[in-house]
Amino acid sequence: MASQNEKLNNVSDQVASLTTIEAVEPQNSTAFSLTSPATLQDKVRISIARLQEFEPPEGYYLAFSGGKDSEVILDLAKKSGVKFEAHYNVTNVDPPELVRHIKRNHPEVIFHLPAISMWQLIVKKRMPPTRIVRYCCELLKEHGGEGRFIVTGVRAQESRNRKNRQVVELCYTRNVKGKRILNPIVDWLTVDVWAYTRLNDLPICELYMKGYKRLGCQLCPYAGCKTQKREAMAYPWIKERFIKAFDKCVKKRIIDGLPTEWKTGQEMYVWWLTKPKTKAEKLKKLSESFIYD
Ligand code: SF4
Repeated sequence: MASQNEKLNNVSDQVASLTTIEAVEPQNSTAFSLTSPATLQDKVRISIARLQEFEPPEGYYLAFSGGKDSEVILDLAKKSGVKFEAHYNVTNVDPPELVRHIKRNHPEVIFHLPAISMWQLIVKKRMPPTRIVRYCCELLKEHGGEGRFIVTGVRAQESRNRKNRQVVELCYTRNVKGKRILNPIVDWLTVDVWAYTRLNDLPICELYMKGYKRLGCQLCPYAGCKTQKREAMAYPWIKERFIKAFDKCVKKRIIDGLPTEWKTGQEMYVWWLTKPKTKAEKLKKLSESFIYD
């Protein structure tokens, strides 16, 4: 049987020329793919097999978000008997209910504070994070685990962007070259996640009971302006922090001699929450002044 290193070397050989996250076919593909229709039992068995197959000697770096998919992946990792630690990246815009939920139910999770806050980042980048330029994700949410084998709760059904995600991937983005990623529940449906949660009596964050479908950063531009507005009502202090940061951002743009049609952070905030089509032109101009470092 191939050793862990041999398996990983084979995996690396397949991705020599990759520039971003790319899929890697596992060596024993029949053990990793689901036949349709698969029962929840099949999915659990296969996901556990995936975790066991690639277990690195130093253990996995489990990227934990406190959401429903993360709860499932944490439970499967425990059941599979593999070595791992769970990590949570604080982003400054985390809902307090989520942080409380993790601390109360999973005291073993390691918290990481960002090297730069969301508010400092907005000023540094001289523009708010947007659907197209999501610089905060890379710097606040996806850091950590360099050189490790990362386990995530990513599922293909979650969004259009994730529909082609695979079980095993290598990440070749700018900051995290060579990160290895395992997505053991990539082919689970939302209904599987909830069924598993119920059957195994997993703890869930109270925000789901308040109607939230996805947890994580509040007022995230990726969620869309309707959701941003709802979250601004629920967390007015996060909204205020954004407006303050936008204020500094507008001032910085003026000092740096960049074109800016906003006079205050409030004006920039109102624009930020308008529909993507309405703000397309300004967004293009903003992106031109984006700082890449
Ligand atoms: S999830 Fe949204 S707000 Fe949070 S870091 Fe990513 S883009 Fe930024």
